[in-house]
Amino acid sequence: MFGLMQDWPLTVDKVLDHAKQNFPRREIVTRSVETGALSRSNYGTVWRRAKQVSNALRERGVRPGDRVATLAWNTERHLEVWYGAMGIGAVLHTLNPRLFPDQIAWIANHAEDKLIFFDITFAPIVAAIAAKLPQVEGWIALTDREHLPAVEIPNLIAYEDFIAGHAQEAAWGGFDENTAAGLCYTSGTTGDPKGVLYSHRSNVLHALAANQTDVFGAGASDVVMPIVPMFHANAWAISFVAPMCGAKLVMPGAKLDGPSVYENLESEKVTFTAAVPTVWLGLLAFLRENKLRPTTLKRVVIGGSAVPEAVLRAFEEDYGVEVIHGWGMTEMSPMGTLGKLLPEHYAADHETQIKAKLKQGRVPFTVEMKVVDDEGNLKPHDGKSFGRLLVRGPAIARAYFKSAGAKNEKGECLEPCGFFDTGDVATIDELGLMQITDRAKDVIKSGGEWISSIDIENIAVGAPGVANAAVIGIAHPKWDERPLLIIEPQPGASPTREQLLKFLEGKIAKWWTPDDVVLVEKIPLGATGKINKLALRETFKDYKLPTAQAAE
Ligand code: AMP
Repeated sequence: MFGLMQDWPLTVDKVLDHAKQNFPRREIVTRSVETGALSRSNYGTVWRRAKQVSNALRERGVRPGDRVATLAWNTERHLEVWYGAMGIGAVLHTLNPRLFPDQIAWIANHAEDKLIFFDITFAPIVAAIAAKLPQVEGWIALTDREHLPAVEIPNLIAYEDFIAGHAQEAAWGGFDENTAAGLCYTSGTTGDPKGVLYSHRSNVLHALAANQTDVFGAGASDVVMPIVPMFHANAWAISFVAPMCGAKLVMPGAKLDGPSVYENLESEKVTFTAAVPTVWLGLLAFLRENKLRPTTLKRVVIGGSAVPEAVLRAFEEDYGVEVIHGWGMTEMSPMGTLGKLLPEHYAADHETQIKAKLKQGRVPFTVEMKVVDDEGNLKPHDGKSFGRLLVRGPAIARAYFKSAGAKNEKGECLEPCGFFDTGDVATIDELGLMQITDRAKDVIKSGGEWISSIDIENIAVGAPGVANAAVIGIAHPKWDERPLLIIEPQPGASPTREQLLKFLEGKIAKWWTPDDVVLVEKIPLGATGKINKLALRETFKDYKLPTAQAAE
């Protein structure tokens, strides 16, 4: 027997319809990519202009299922293209401009993008890749005619001309909620990048899950600034969450440095924001140097890589801002766990709470997770036993676009038990808090035991004079691998090997102590702002540890 409730497909066009209907004048403020000044729009205007985008796309022959790509910052125009394309059943493909031009071209070809919208900052990338993308029928610069970049590419048009004259009403939705809505490629640190194809249903369910009270908990009185880019897994759902709840949106455009982030926070009275740790290192350094403090900020979501203890303490202890540590991945839409505390933690002392917050957190409704050994046997929830972290849920990928990386004959990328293997190694404690101990490929295997590179990095980054820290395994004749600590000093600082190792003493198991320390000018970061371990391993592939020489 079926229930007798209405059929209301979960499609994302309803999200912006809801915002336009209920919060039409709630502001969307953007730091203009062209001028750097703040410009103001609102949900009503973005809705009308998104409809113009839909009409312009239809006129260009874009059909349901066609891929429409963006190479763009977080701006109100990006949001218009986003909803304008998804609303008519086209697939909005966010390209990551931080990748190398050749990788972007590879991805755009693989996705068979039909049109590409780009911010003028990325005109050099467009100039470099246009000739390699014969299937692209048009390039739309997200600007007006006055700021159109002088690039020699065919079929170039300014966005304002692209939408001009089109009606501000267009039919949206009316298709199956399982229709593809968005496409986002994984960073491809192992092998070719793989396309994650979100559906309307998965996006709507994920946004509802991400905005539960114990997850983001954002509301109509919030001012939300997604610093995490829309090209990084839907700006962690904020592109859907903010219009769903009527929060004011502050879109930072191309300026993500400490001073610009601070100016946005203060001038727009931001209450809630989200970004990877590297952005926060920049903001916190700026606050300290200038003896400033955020005055309206209440909560920050930090994820993408582990929150360094120093960052957590600075926000919570120095500025009274709640840190929500998040873990997830492109394949999970991306939210997997959030570090909101439980009554047991609130009843405990501050240091216990800090320790709990450093863990990656617990699953919201819609995510199931388990930790297993190589044979698939469950590991106990004791906070110590670690193993492969597997997940399942309605907003988690079951297959990659065009069946890339398939593990079964159905083209799916799942384990025999139906779960997705995250590639992370983790523990789960008695209260259900998960802690990543490493990426499966980054753990350091020393004498048959595993050392977590992330744990050492998080502590080392808090040492005096350290701007960033990375730990990689170096081949060792006796132990198989031993850790090497790589330090990027703060400008003007030169911490010594002895000082750094002393700092780690007592904070990690003795046998985890790095066998050597090297200072580098810059630790390389990947396209999503995380430490590029692959590049570091390449740089140090012939490195000989002093302990290795002694053991030979
Ligand atoms: P991506 O799909 O590019 O977002 O990368 C996902 C991966 O980033 C995860 O599988 C983790 O290895 C890592 N990651 C994300 N968030 C965290 C976190 N809070 N702590 C540690 N690793 C994280």
